Amino acid sequence: MSRYFTDKFASLTPYTPGEQPRDMQYVKLNTNESPFPPSPAVAAAVAAECGKLQLYSDPESTALRAKLAEVYGVKPTQVLVSNGSDEALNFAFMAFADTHSPLAFPDITYGFYPVFAELNHIPYTQIPLKEDFSIDPADYMAIGKTVVIANPNAPTGLCLPLAEIEKIVKSNPDNVVIVDEAYVDFGGESAVKLVDSYENLLVIQTFSKSRSMAGARLGFAIGSEQLIADLNTLRYSTNPYNVNRMTEFAGVAALEEDDYYKQNAQTIMANRRWTIEQLERLGFTVLPSKANFLFAKSDRIHGEKLYKELKARGVLVRHFTKERIAPFVRITIGTMAQMEKLIETIKDILEASL
Ligand code: PMP
Repeated sequence: MSRYFTDKFASLTPYTPGEQPRDMQYVKLNTNESPFPPSPAVAAAVAAECGKLQLYSDPESTALRAKLAEVYGVKPTQVLVSNGSDEALNFAFMAFADTHSPLAFPDITYGFYPVFAELNHIPYTQIPLKEDFSIDPADYMAIGKTVVIANPNAPTGLCLPLAEIEKIVKSNPDNVVIVDEAYVDFGGESAVKLVDSYENLLVIQTFSKSRSMAGARLGFAIGSEQLIADLNTLRYSTNPYNVNRMTEFAGVAALEEDDYYKQNAQTIMANRRWTIEQLERLGFTVLPSKANFLFAKSDRIHGEKLYKELKARGVLVRHFTKERIAPFVRITIGTMAQMEKLIETIKDILEASL
């Protein structure tokens, strides 16, 4: 830390992203990316915009918001687009939480929530998940705090039924409930259909997972016009050109080929079923995931050891050191070839440790 760094941020512990190694070619199952490339139309859209980079992007992202509004059945004024959904989450925390309306989220969830809370000096409560790692909706009823729930949750992959989300939203009319649906396209049920019924509901999604665009950085928020206007106040006070022109039109092209991405999500779900079966045959406990990753543990090998042994053999998964989840590894679902390699490698590791 330099001697110029302000006291305001001196105690901030930043988020640690998953490894993006450059030392060798791994079977990369550690950051929940899609194993499938974007559709060819996306590459063509990016190429077309490249020749116009001397011009700023449209600060309103008009074309993209119109397309998102059409796909999700809302008005363009109910949509905000962001530089990855992380940015929308940060804007939402800034806009809707403070000392009078502190944050509440599960103790085991997306690791960026406490970081954004600290960054913005927002007090927060971390509510323990149940023994089976599910969220107890009762904990959030009439809680009187700004609620953030990843649904499906990360890194567990567990999903709350939409009816439970609705009860939480309904019971907290004076606070915003943020539902982070980064992984919803792999078997969850979106809360977007409720945004016209509840002015305190904000749904955040991303193009990083099911739409194969993690490297383009594109996320979006859908809610009431008033909530979106508040987010825009922060966006225009931070970075009006937050979505670059290549990404905006890549997003439009991706939405025009929704069938391709839906098919890919189906493939991921089928590969997920196969991988669960194989891991269970090897004695693993696997949480019932509705996401493009699995959270699994074995009595025969600790999560940290498994992560290290897999990495040494060229397969990268994610391990978290937090005590309650340290026995687990999180495994992104990739292609069948990647999943077969994962299972073969785990078999080798288990045999070698006998
Ligand atoms: N929410 C959750 C639950 C996530 O796991 C992630 C991915 N790390 C994000 C949001 C942010 O993704 P992105 O900024 O790529 O849209």
